[in-house]
Amino acid sequence: MDEQEKEVENEETKMRMELATGLVGVLGDASRVLTQPQVVERLSKDFYWYSPVLKPLLEDKHADVVVQPVSVEEIIAVMRYAYEQNVAVTLRGAGTGNYGQAVPLEGGVVLDLQKMDRVLEITDEGVAVCEPGAKLGALETMAREQGWELRCYPSTVAKSSLGGFLGGGSGGIGSITHGGVRENATVRAIDVVTMEAEPRLLHCEGEAVHEILHAWGTNGVIVKIWFALTPAVAWAQVALCFKTFDAAFDFSETIAKGSQWQKRLITVFEWPIPSFFTPVKQFTRDGEASIFMMIAESQREAFVVAAKDAGATVMLAEPWPGLRSQPLLSDYTWNHTTLWAMKADPEYTYLQCGYDPERVREQLTLLKAKYGADYLHHMEWANWGGVITPGSIPVVRFSTAERLNEMIDYCREIGVSVANPHINNVEGGGRYREDNVQLIAKYKHDPKGLMNPGKMVTFVKREMEQPV
Ligand SMILES: Cc1cc2nc3c(=O)[nH]c(=O)nc-3n(C[C@H](O)[C@H](O)[C@H](O)COP(=O)(O)OP(=O)(O)OC[C@H]3O[C@@H](n4cnc5c(N)ncnc54)[C@H](O)[C@@H]3O)c2cc1C
Repeated sequence: MDEQEKEVENEETKMRMELATGLVGVLGDASRVLTQPQVVERLSKDFYWYSPVLKPLLEDKHADVVVQPVSVEEIIAVMRYAYEQNVAVTLRGAGTGNYGQAVPLEGGVVLDLQKMDRVLEITDEGVAVCEPGAKLGALETMAREQGWELRCYPSTVAKSSLGGFLGGGSGGIGSITHGGVRENATVRAIDVVTMEAEPRLLHCEGEAVHEILHAWGTNGVIVKIWFALTPAVAWAQVALCFKTFDAAFDFSETIAKGSQWQKRLITVFEWPIPSFFTPVKQFTRDGEASIFMMIAESQREAFVVAAKDAGATVMLAEPWPGLRSQPLLSDYTWNHTTLWAMKADPEYTYLQCGYDPERVREQLTLLKAKYGADYLHHMEWANWGGVITPGSIPVVRFSTAERLNEMIDYCREIGVSVANPHINNVEGGGRYREDNVQLIAKYKHDPKGLMNPGKMVTFVKREMEQPV
């Protein structure tokens, strides 16, 4: 390191220490202002490495300091201080996001909400009132004890926080019946702290919640959530094998669209994807497609008969005692499938696609014909916007970003929508709202553009504090 580099490093260390000292003053508790480099590094990272495109772009990014508030008042105080000091703030729930949503691009503060993890109440109407760091797994378990369950949850349920799910997630197990987390008024209301000279505490309900949901923490801190649940169902988990992917897909469609079946999960895998699931190998068959699903326990027997009639081999059909079930088939579904594929072969990556329900077979065939074993079908049935949709998180072989983009272009060319998981901003990910409400809210709540800077790329810093 030459003299000039040393000087820069010393200057940076000095700034970091000054920031930490200031924040200790704000919180009055040094134990929740973290500066140890390894700890700051760990809490600056999420599952960004899931994407071979994002990995090299984000691996050297980290915050300067991590702050762990325990109350809304402390969050307000930190936001006020950071605004005054022009310091970036990136929010963190559990850091399981897979597009680098929680990785700070411009240093500053990571506001880690893991200590605000209380479920404050589950009302008689089935609404959970939670702090943002509440763990989804704990909430599901607690809700079931009171006769309720989550409407939908990601496959990272055990770790992920409710605030993070609202900030960066979409849906998952349960979405076949209840849609995505932003649908059907599942998020009844939220309290949000803004980043202004004097931060405001806003209460948003109804349509107003969409200004903040899935904005990656760029336009407000969700500090309290009213989250609608649904009456608990006794579930069974089932693993089926079919000789061909087509037969498995046909059967899955019958179940997905059959309103007589009460279901929480319907996942279809083309071989060799099931071969990646080493811990549950006994429930798969060499060369065959698999279906992993959750169906009402009261329908298990009838379902097994229907599956056998359709040519399935039933590998597992047993009651589901909860998230601690062993095996837990949902651990292999949604975005966990990609994780198992990457474990088996690091060259695998993924896309997030939506097929046209009317053209799905044609689209599946076209993709297989073009990419063969480089594009493996992994289907997740969901009720998106009231339409039973064959969603997909295909496992694809990565060689270069260009080829991946070429695959995405081809998908779109044949009418398959893609929410690109290899892009690190809200707009590019494909879940941006065309009515721009998130951007408008950013101008109102974060006029200096200090919240997770770089993640909402259509935001342009303005001289004035309010949009025209
Ligand atoms: C293996 C794997 C499987 C996955 N499966 C699914 C799946 O099935 N469905 C799905 O939707 N997602 C899935 N994900 C993505 C992710 O796990 C979920 O979206 C999860 O709910 C995120 O929660 P978190 O607490 O980890 O959020 P974080 O990663 O900590 O944060 C996510 C985003 O929300 C922002 N944020 C965090 N807290 C707040 C807050 N209080 N206010 C405002 N913004 C906030 C963060 O800044 C960040 O931009 C998967 C990821 C992996 C790695």
